[in-house]
Amino acid sequence: MNIFKNVVPLKDNFVTDDLPTTCASYILQGFKGPDKSSVAHLLEDSSILVVAKTNMDEFGMGSHSLNSAYGQVENGAGRQAQSAGGSSGGSAMVVADTMASIAIGSDTGGSVRLPAAYTGVFGFKPSYGRISRNGLVPYANSLDTVGIFARTVDEISAVYKILDKHDPADPTCLTKETRLRIELAALRRGLAPGEEAVQGLHIRVVATGDTANEHTDSIKTMEGKHKRLDKAQYDQPRPIRVGVPDEYNIEEIHPLVRKAWTQYLSALAENGHEIVPISLPTTQQALAAYYILAPAEASSNLAKYDGVRYGIPRHQELPDNHNGPLYSRHRGEFFGDEVKRRILLGTFTLSAGAMDNYFIQAQKVRRLVQHDFNSVFRLGHPLMDGSQNKPHGVDFIVVPTAPTVPPLISEVKSQSPLDSYINDVFTVPASLAGLPALSVPIVPDDDMPHTPEKNVGMQIIGQFGDDRKVLQFAKANR
Ligand code: GLN
Repeated sequence: MNIFKNVVPLKDNFVTDDLPTTCASYILQGFKGPDKSSVAHLLEDSSILVVAKTNMDEFGMGSHSLNSAYGQVENGAGRQAQSAGGSSGGSAMVVADTMASIAIGSDTGGSVRLPAAYTGVFGFKPSYGRISRNGLVPYANSLDTVGIFARTVDEISAVYKILDKHDPADPTCLTKETRLRIELAALRRGLAPGEEAVQGLHIRVVATGDTANEHTDSIKTMEGKHKRLDKAQYDQPRPIRVGVPDEYNIEEIHPLVRKAWTQYLSALAENGHEIVPISLPTTQQALAAYYILAPAEASSNLAKYDGVRYGIPRHQELPDNHNGPLYSRHRGEFFGDEVKRRILLGTFTLSAGAMDNYFIQAQKVRRLVQHDFNSVFRLGHPLMDGSQNKPHGVDFIVVPTAPTVPPLISEVKSQSPLDSYINDVFTVPASLAGLPALSVPIVPDDDMPHTPEKNVGMQIIGQFGDDRKVLQFAKANR
């Protein structure tokens, strides 16, 4: 057995007990957590050794892995180095450079999918709550997910299987009952609401939990039914319907990305799948909503870094001419510029005068984005009452991961922060809705030889909880 196969690097925002966890920030230099993250525990229980931490944008804030206290991540060398994407650029590069078969990252608004697209590997963001966030330093809790990089779908699926578990240490990690409920909803895919072959099951699940015994009994019943149903109906209805949203077809798409998109859709059509035009009207507002919600949550999360707790005390390093309380001196000195920008943004949008016009509006947009997705998927949202299956809805949505191929680092550095934010335009909608999305590397046919500056990724987005089907679909259509 090749022992190097069974090792995994973690993005440096996952707590490990033996290696420091810095989130690529000076403020956490020297910080070692009291225990490992649940992800590290689960991997090690499966004999996969956590061997290193990877570079990233400070606290996950960025799209190019350039905002790091430890230097930038480069995709290629020298003046021609491209962006590796961000914020999990380090994890993407170790897989792209074949230093490891798999690597773990985190995806809040695209931080696994964008680097995967820019470096030419697979990057999977599961549904929100499928993998425990216990021990993942939070950026924006309501959006943070654990993601996986690999060069094959099989490896992603294998690691996903290990990590896709309930964890009582993370209150937002889906419970066993919820997981079953999701499975059962998927079994009814393709059935119109009136022809539910498994009537009562949904109600049963909702009604469980009065006493511990009843609870267990009910789960057993469901598991029994599930097994029987599995044989009868688990197959995806044919043909699979692939949605292509009009709103993603924007002018700014790079010609190579457009070519790869067309090529991938044609290949899917040749494989017998139906390509269906759809509309997700709130897509245009999703980016703005994300850049209000994520910094708002971040500003609250980062308040705990006060110069007293976490990391090595560094008061002696503060410049003499710096006046004011330790708290602000420390934060002023040891947070990077992008992090400070997000804190200011977040505290502003949460302030009494701005709350209604920014934060509340952004929450409403988030709801509309979720509603848009629910209105097109064949599968109803398994956790939303009243969301029903639509026999003529789509099974997956296929869109580019990013509007462009990886930009040169030198170009990125001359851009404004806003230009970087725009890069996330295709990844944030699935994050706001908590949906599973896999970035698949595409090599356009007639662009050989393929070189990293031509890397393009396509996202396969599925309904909430339909993670395994997304992976199966990607594998079946290579
Ligand atoms: N680029 C986005 C941001 O800076 C997403 C980052 C992420 O997913 N961690 O917020």
